[in-house]
Amino acid sequence: MVPNVAVFMLLGSRVFYQSWPCCGSKNREFPYPLWPVHCSQNKLAAARFLTIVQGMNNALAILHKVFGYNSFRPPQAEIIDTLIGGGDALVLMPTGGGKSLCYQIPALARKGCGVVISPLIALMQDQVSALHEAGVKAAFLNSTLDFQAVRAIEVALQREELDLLYMAPERLKQERTLALLQSVPLALFAIDEAHCVSQWGHDFRADYLELGVLHELFPHVPRIALTATADVRTRNEIIERLQLQDARQFIAGFDRPNICYRITLKDNPRQQLLRFLREEHPSDAGIVYCLSRQKTEETAEWLQSEGFTALAYHAGLSASQRAGNQARFLREDAVVMVATIAFGMGIDKPDVRFVAHLDMPKTIEAYYQETGRAGRDGEPANALLLYGLQDVIKLRQMMGESQGSEDHKRIEQHRLNAMLGLCEITTCRREALLRYFGETRPVTCGNCDACLQPAQTWDATESARLALSAVFRTGQRFGVNHLIEVLRGSNVDKVFQFDHQHLNVYGKGTELTVNQWRSVFRQLVARNYLSVDLDGFGALRLEELCRPLLRGETTLALRRDESVKRSKAEKRSKAKPAAAAGDLDHGLWEALRALRTRLAEEHKVPPYVIFHNSTLEALCRQRPANLEELGRISGIGERKQERYGPVFLALLQQHQ
Ligand code: ADP
Ligand code: ZN
Repeated sequence: MVPNVAVFMLLGSRVFYQSWPCCGSKNREFPYPLWPVHCSQNKLAAARFLTIVQGMNNALAILHKVFGYNSFRPPQAEIIDTLIGGGDALVLMPTGGGKSLCYQIPALARKGCGVVISPLIALMQDQVSALHEAGVKAAFLNSTLDFQAVRAIEVALQREELDLLYMAPERLKQERTLALLQSVPLALFAIDEAHCVSQWGHDFRADYLELGVLHELFPHVPRIALTATADVRTRNEIIERLQLQDARQFIAGFDRPNICYRITLKDNPRQQLLRFLREEHPSDAGIVYCLSRQKTEETAEWLQSEGFTALAYHAGLSASQRAGNQARFLREDAVVMVATIAFGMGIDKPDVRFVAHLDMPKTIEAYYQETGRAGRDGEPANALLLYGLQDVIKLRQMMGESQGSEDHKRIEQHRLNAMLGLCEITTCRREALLRYFGETRPVTCGNCDACLQPAQTWDATESARLALSAVFRTGQRFGVNHLIEVLRGSNVDKVFQFDHQHLNVYGKGTELTVNQWRSVFRQLVARNYLSVDLDGFGALRLEELCRPLLRGETTLALRRDESVKRSKAEKRSKAKPAAAAGDLDHGLWEALRALRTRLAEEHKVPPYVIFHNSTLEALCRQRPANLEELGRISGIGERKQERYGPVFLALLQQHQ
């Protein structure tokens, strides 16, 4: 509920006052009847107030009419207000937070066309087709258009017929484009995925650096930069490079409460993935991330053989293969995309129900960004990460080999440590994630594996000492497997070849199984007691941190790795499969979905552009009897009510 607000209005020389009981209902008209009040001292303040109120009133009307939503999410209203008032804004909002409306609505409310800079062609096309469905005059300029099509859009812009124009930064910086933009009224510039100016992130785009000129060439056009990347370094780089020193900053909370985070030890990862898909996401769209191109292809093929619609995506595929696979992922209902990190930036699909990682991401930023592609629609979604000793070793080695300056390496190392720390903690994952981004939270969230099934720890002091001694006694030249052979007193040739059967650690570790020893070594590496040699064989070396432990001055508690059976967390956190909640009329639900698919095909747009699942679910539950009732459902604006209302009503009637 929106609280009551006091509204001043200035008419002629008199200020009017109204206490406005805003209920957020779509159909209320504003202004209500007004009372005059004698407030002559502060006419100016009242006038300023009036501009904002009118702007917001307008914004709310647009939200209802065009997008069919009832109220703004925080802090959308404030951002929109800032832009309508002519100010600049820097917006950090998690994926799915609703960034697009923050510039789309001011572009509609202000005079002139809003120019949106977006790095990806696919994203522009999706946004523009979704805007067309909502009846907005939007277009994009990019390399897929021929000269005539470009010309037609330029003419439309000059005739002031466009509300929104999307383009890539390469296009914007061309003389021709800049000259054109200078000749027409502009409502605003929106710089989407603004972290692309940052050289730290993996999405860096050199053309973004030139967007600094906007400030000089268009000093009176408000600018809004948007990103979902949280870290302070990136944020400062955005401000500096885009000259947004005077912009208001809006930093929304980063929590994604609908995503259930699970981080599990690898133990036959293919079977783990298969079980996860079969039991929790048998007919959902999702993304499976792998580190290498080859692994994405093999995994996709194998998933196909298991009956899933799985496609591969990586930078080694041709542009047309990539575009084709991406289009299928967006348009079809339940495609599993098996991909490297090349996939995902700007993927706007709201109903991705899961993101699974078969390899560990290098940083928490990357992990959060990738998992953040799940559940944009706010419905329950799962993030599953499978990791193991080999991931830790491989990433540690990659880090060591990376080129970059010492400073850069130190930062990378720090980031990797944080990621490993997240995997190994026994406390709430969400709390740790948000703490990393500088947000404090209650210590349990109730929607992560650690909260749903608390992990156990054990006093590993003695075992860790033994493991470290084994590393030391064998000369810091051997990898985990050999060390475990020695500890468990094995008779393999290699032990005798190096005469390790005479060491005093030989055979001292029979109390732990091979897997338990792997767990000890993994955690010692993850916690920096041991480092991994760069020779490619994974030899372990002692680090400074070992000393107090070896001298008996500290103790060490380690996570007890569950044998990977189906855990309680998995059972409890089941994401609802595609809104097929038990109490829905299944027949009607399927019929609504089929109608949506047919319309989507006719209009050549993804199904969610017609209606989101949540809108379909509301249709199914509320069964509106006429257009007016249908128009009140969230997600149905005027244009969609006109266009699709009658066919959906007819279908609902058939199912009475
Ligand atoms: P982002 O770009 O921040 O990832 P989007 O702009 O794509 O997020 O919005 C995510 C989803 O939330 C979209 O489906 C959008 O229609 C919906 N949405 C945004 N704002 C609102 C709102 N005020 N009320 C209801 N739904 C909203
Ligand atoms: Zn938790």
